[in-house]
Amino acid sequence: MTALSIQNLKKTYNNGFVALKGVDLDVQRGDFFALLGPNGAGKSTLIGIISSLVNKSSGSVSIFGHDLDKDTVAAKTCIGVVPQEVNFNQFETSMNVVLNQAGYYGIPRKQALQRTEQCLRQMELWDKRDVVSRRLSGGMKRRLMIARAMVHSPRLLILDEPTAGVDIEIRRSMWEMMQEVNKQGTTIILTTHYLEEAESLCRNIAIINNGQIIEKSAMNSLLSRL
Ligand code: ADP
Ligand code: ADP
Repeated sequence: MTALSIQNLKKTYNNGFVALKGVDLDVQRGDFFALLGPNGAGKSTLIGIISSLVNKSSGSVSIFGHDLDKDTVAAKTCIGVVPQEVNFNQFETSMNVVLNQAGYYGIPRKQALQRTEQCLRQMELWDKRDVVSRRLSGGMKRRLMIARAMVHSPRLLILDEPTAGVDIEIRRSMWEMMQEVNKQGTTIILTTHYLEEAESLCRNIAIINNGQIIEKSAMNSLLSRL
């Protein structure tokens, strides 16, 4: 079964701008997949549609076999999304940022507490659990976003430039954490500006430009052609 299957996906914004011109994309379960492309290529639009934040104009999206239109709740439950901008309540503690998210998914309290601890530990934030999140460093905030996105144990994790603006050492340590999450069975789709990041993490890659996928291949085969 594919983790994500997209067919002929098109998006025209209300102002008439065509942001996606018929995208076809399959991501296999267990993959660590890179979506690369310049600014304005349509990456955020694509991720927005997959995560039901943006309405598509036409085409179909299915997530672990659940059609996003017909089986919306099941499809949405399969995904965790880490957006580019920090969008949690920065006056909450790290613990509560993750725990509140578990609440949105209706996870019972005891299980929510266990899962929150697991996710914070996995992102090496457990010792920061009582820190008000606005006091965290940039890299820690990014990791908190990932911990929050994982609380309901999604099978597919979508990371939109998860290490943007983070310095190189912290970025490398985040790579290890993401690799560990993938090893445990979570399919990951990553957008990034850093080719090195895609190169070290991802097995397969798609390049989007101007609302169209212009290249799809295994990472090692792409690199051998560069
Ligand atoms: P939809 O077609 O999904 O209904 P809209 O065209 O109504 O989306 O736009 C959604 C939001 O995005 C609006 O608040 C709009 O101001 C904002 N927006 C408009 N143009 C851009 C742009 N070029 N890049 C990012 N956001 C934009
Ligand atoms: P990327 O994430 O690859 O930088 P986006 O998906 O954000 O690309 O944007 C793709 C194109 O769609 C850009 O040209 C952007 O200006 C335009 N765009 C994004 N959101 C809107 C919107 N709400 N209304 C109109 N145009 C938009």
